[in-house]
Parts: sequence; C-alpha cells; structure tokens
Amino acid sequence: MFEGILIEKSGDRQTARWALLNESELPKGEVLVDVAWTTLNYKDALAMTGRSPVVRQFPMVPGIDFSGIVSRSDSASFKKGDRVVMTGWGMGERFWGGMARLARVPAECLVALPDGLDLKQAMAIGTAGFTAMLCVMALEERGVRPGDGEILVSGAAGGVGSVATALLAGRGYKVVAVTGRAEEEDYLKGLGASRIVKRSDFSEPGRPLQKEQWAAAVDVVGGVALANVLAGIQYGGTVVACGLAGGMDLPTTVAPFILRSVSLIGVDSVMCDRVKRTLAWRQLARELDLKLLESMINEVSLKSVIGSAAEMLEGKIRGRTVVPVSGS
Ligand code: NAP
Repeated sequence: MFEGILIEKSGDRQTARWALLNESELPKGEVLVDVAWTTLNYKDALAMTGRSPVVRQFPMVPGIDFSGIVSRSDSASFKKGDRVVMTGWGMGERFWGGMARLARVPAECLVALPDGLDLKQAMAIGTAGFTAMLCVMALEERGVRPGDGEILVSGAAGGVGSVATALLAGRGYKVVAVTGRAEEEDYLKGLGASRIVKRSDFSEPGRPLQKEQWAAAVDVVGGVALANVLAGIQYGGTVVACGLAGGMDLPTTVAPFILRSVSLIGVDSVMCDRVKRTLAWRQLARELDLKLLESMINEVSLKSVIGSAAEMLEGKIRGRTVVPVSGS
C-alpha cells in the first residue's frame, strides 16, 4: 500500500481525499517511479476542486507532474536509480498522476533529470516553469529579441508568470509584469521585472487597437485581458497565449492581426514533442537562476495540498507550490 490523493465521483459530486492505494491499481507502463516531489499547478487545482472537467476517468490520482527515482523498469531507456521528470501527456487527467508515492508511466513520457537540477528544483520548475520556457522559445522562434522593446507578462506572480519573468529578464529582455497583487511588486522586481502594471488596466473591454506599447507578450490569462494585450502590441509583435486564468473566451477583433501584423501563438506543454521537451529542460537547467527559483517556492504537504487548490483558483498563491511526496 502507498499514500496518495484520490479524486472520486459519485453522481455529480466530485471529492478529493488522502487515501491508501494498491500498486495493482496503477496504470500500465514500463517504468515504476518512487515519486519524490510533485507540484500544484492550475490544472491540478481545477481537477481537485472539480471546477473544470479536467479529470476524464475516476477514481483518479491527480498531479500533472512529478520528479522521482526509477524503482523498476522494463524499458532499455531507464534503469533502477535513474532520476526522472514527468510532465503532461494526460497524467492526472486520463491516467494516474504524481500526487502519490508511486507512479507507473510509459518510458517515452519520461525525461532524464537534467544535470544541474535536483529533484526538488525540477518540481519547483514543474509544468508551469517548463511552459514558461516553451513560451520564451516560441517568442524567440518568431524573431523577438531583447532590443525590440518591452515584453508584457500577465499573471506574473503565478507559476508560469514568475518563471517567464525570471527567464526573460535573465535573457536581457525588459519585462513588464502584470499583476492583480500590488503587494508582490518587490517579489516581481526581484525576479527581474523592470516595472509593474495593474491587472485592472486590462480587465475591462477596450478598443480593438490601443496605443502600441509592447514588443511581445506572454499571456496566461486569456479572455478580455488577452484581447487588451493584443490591442496594445507594437506593429509586427507577437503574443504567446498559454493559459485561461481569466477565461476561456477571446473577445477580440481581427484588427491587431490585419492592421498591425500581430501574431498570436499558442503554446501547449502537455503533448509537446520529446525533442522540444528535452531542449526546454536543458535550457531551464542551464539558465534559470536557482536563487530566484528558491524565492518562488511554497512547500505544502500531500495532506494539505487539497486545501491549497481552492486558494490557487482564487489567485492567492504566489510562485510555485511544491509537495514532498516520499516521506510526507
Ligand atoms: P497560477 O500559479 O495560479 O497563476 C495564475 C496567475 O494568473 C495568478 O497568480 C494571478 O496572477 C493571475 N490570475 C488569476 N486569476 C485571474 C483572473 N481572474 N484574471 C486575471 N488574472 C488572474 O497558475 P499557473 O500554474 O501559473 O497557470 C497559469 C495559467 O496557465 C492557467 O490557466 C493554466 O491552466 C495555464 N497553463 C497552461 C499550460 C499549457 O500547456 N498551455 C501549462 C501550464 C499552465 P497575479 O496575481 O500576478 O495577477
């Protein structure tokens, strides 16, 4: 038996609880992993609270990512004792995830822990940090460069936003951090933001074309906020959209695209191919300032992570929430 969080559904009612689980209940896969750390991502919070239909099958162990040590492997790619990271691929949605002491997964979904990161740091990065790196890569693939002007990052005090701010500032970009929490100004400036703007500046429907202010943007919010971001991008600029913290819709017009040549690029971390995945993790290990990463971390136990999920959806959690699993 091993400990984990279990989401169950009875009728329309979905509940998450701490539970004792059996190895025989784990899904199929070539690699059995002793989970060391997992994290609380926005999607985990949606899954545990049942706020969105993230979970596709019940009962479900949530946790869209984990780091850990291989305990048994039927794959030539991994052997007992290897340190591994897993994010996405539908884990915690379609098959059991990282919020349990054991996980069994297909070998092709695992990434070897890159040199320079320990298991805790890997999960301090987690899905949110990995996605932030994919966003930075997407901007640079579109030709965005540090001299082009200011880069807007929304939801900046959250997980994706914090890591995106630190990565962009580390690469020499001038980052403008959008936050709904004025009290996080020092934190965001510590991560490298050059200035802070209020979330409320973006929350009301605005004109389809506004003053050209930013060279590019990383948006985790969606909705009206993303429409306003698009309206304020400079001619030829790029916006990377990866989240829906403010809404799933996008009430915009074609004006930014056809009159200013603005590009809107989507980023998905879940099904990201292995080559890009490995490259993103290598870059994270090489360039993310580990002291800054430390400043983003909150630690909560496996038993208390259920309570943290609701706080996350209320936008009350700063940075990255890591959960020690082995030994918790
Ligand atoms: P998070 O830590 O909860 O951060 C979200 C941040 O958005 C909050 O900290 C808050 O930042 C801001 N926010 C919250 N509610 C808002 C609202 N109603 N309107 C405007 N801003 C709001 O979550 P995360 O893990 O960083 O994820 C952020 C988003 O990216 C989520 O929608 C998540 O699903 C998505 N995501 C997508 C992928 C992908 O593969 N595409 C991967 C990871 C995450 P401030 O307080 O600073 O304003």
